[in-house]
Amino acid sequence: MLTKVTLIMGDGIGPEIAEAARRCIDATGAAIEWDIQQAGVDVMETAGTPLPEATLESIRKNGIALKAPITTPLGTGFRSVNVHLRQVFELYACIRPCKSYKGVRSLYDNIDLVIVRENTEDLYAGIEFEKGTHETLELIDWLNAHGKRKIGPNTGISIKPISVEGTERIVKFAFDYARRMGRSKVTSVHKANIMKHTDGLWLEVSRQMAQRYPDIEFEDRIVDNMCMQLVQKPELYDVLVMPNLYGDILSDLCAGLVGGLGVAPGANIGKKGAIFEATHGSAPKYKGQNKVNPAALILSGVLMLRHLGMENQADALENAVAAVIEEGKYVTYDMKPDRNDLTAAGTREMADAIIARINK
Ligand code: NAD
Repeated sequence: MLTKVTLIMGDGIGPEIAEAARRCIDATGAAIEWDIQQAGVDVMETAGTPLPEATLESIRKNGIALKAPITTPLGTGFRSVNVHLRQVFELYACIRPCKSYKGVRSLYDNIDLVIVRENTEDLYAGIEFEKGTHETLELIDWLNAHGKRKIGPNTGISIKPISVEGTERIVKFAFDYARRMGRSKVTSVHKANIMKHTDGLWLEVSRQMAQRYPDIEFEDRIVDNMCMQLVQKPELYDVLVMPNLYGDILSDLCAGLVGGLGVAPGANIGKKGAIFEATHGSAPKYKGQNKVNPAALILSGVLMLRHLGMENQADALENAVAAVIEEGKYVTYDMKPDRNDLTAAGTREMADAIIARINK
């Protein structure tokens, strides 16, 4: 039986890389039926919204989507489609694997780690109080009456909620993921020495959860030390679980360690669905030029195939991407030593080379 997957074409470079990813996934023989849907600035004019109801309905029905990047519209009154999807489908876990592929120019050649980022709480929860407003001044009065430190009136405030339930859910996800993927260690990242009631809670819940998984090694790291360790000895790390803000920053740090956005896939997973997408954005300046690298979205497709239990197809696709990158001939401009190299492949041609490898 075919598994229905929503394919969101996105905008900017989205449609080109979505098409490349679809063709590569189909070449593996994966039993997938695509339900092609639109979102982003291109559809906004006709649909009156960057996220049409039909697209939401399709994800609701299928529970799984491969999504090309979408430009965040500025000054239109519409909120970010990415944030909207995260909230509607309660996508509480953001997964960012960072893996060294031979042929990618990077400082290291032995990294294979996965960042599991909590996606709903922390300083990104959107609980913010603007300097000088009535509510903020009221809040400051309350804090000055109840807290140890005094806050001046010319202060903006962002709140950092970290709950037991939110932490349990994401740390459990990290351990289950480690078990399912045959990984051996989970590292919980925090700043519990300073923020005792938020990161301290995070660490305590992490430790309790670890006791339920005696087969998986557990350790914790303070986030600043974690950054240094990742730069000095990234090969020591396996699955890293962390709150939202640290996850945002360390995901990019780790993408940089393995060679940048071109090879950084991702997944957002929750109770009501799973959406797979590249880390990079819609790069509007390259729209329609058949120029950009499709590998990050194709590797997001690999994560999706594994999520669907289609391991053989996932292996075939990942090996083909790795082989094409290692050979270095049919790769896009960003993977060439000289970015102006005229022999660089286009998006379509790189996908063709990956498909040829799968069929070999
Ligand atoms: P971007 O990732 O689009 O581009 C950053 C740089 O990387 C640019 O120089 C770009 O040309 C290059 N780049 C990106 N993807 C590439 C690829 N596949 N191959 C080769 N080069 C590539 O980031 P930005 O310019 O900050 O954002 C553009 C838009 O995308 C913004 O509106 C932003 O909000 C949005 N965005 C969307 C998502 C998403 O849909 N998940 C993620 C990030 C940013």
